[in-house]
Amino acid sequence: MSAKYPQAITEMIEQFKKLPSVGPRSAERIAVWMIQNTKANPLELAECLKVANEEVTLCKECGFFATDEYCGVCDSPRRDHHLLCVVEQPTDVVPMEKAGVFEGYYHCLGGKLSPLDNITPHDLRIAKLYERVESSPGIEVILALSADVEGEATCNYISEGLEKYDCKVTRIAQGLPAGGGLEHADALTLTKALQGRR
Ligand SMILES: [Zn+2]
Repeated sequence: MSAKYPQAITEMIEQFKKLPSVGPRSAERIAVWMIQNTKANPLELAECLKVANEEVTLCKECGFFATDEYCGVCDSPRRDHHLLCVVEQPTDVVPMEKAGVFEGYYHCLGGKLSPLDNITPHDLRIAKLYERVESSPGIEVILALSADVEGEATCNYISEGLEKYDCKVTRIAQGLPAGGGLEHADALTLTKALQGRR
């Protein structure tokens, strides 16, 4: 009989394998490292995951990460109420905030339209977007979605839907890395993309 890992380690490996970009080999390496290495602090990691799981939710207004009903951006009275930037994922907000290139509020859709993956308008936070626009006459809605086919389709769908509201719809200039959303854009690219919106 060949030597096997104890069940507890096998289960760790199975958990790590579920993480993005972690293959079976890496999962095994991480699990063993966690158990053997003196620098590893598995309990601290476990506690961290537990707290994040319990506390982190999505902002009721914009869909960004929050630990309360509303996120830090929506809670801030200092932002520009005339600007609303629509992004695909909450993770898209982070580089924008880090770069400090945008003063307005955000709206995270939670994805983009994709018939192949069965993602319809009802799966995205589009109705909530219309609701927000309706309550802010004259607002500028900046569509900052990825430049791929699904991103385009989503932009078109939303633009059409917004036609009946009192708002101005702009799109960021092309120039974001192909295939990558805002997540991969640096501060300069973001600034240019925002300034060049039309
Ligand atoms: Zn928010």
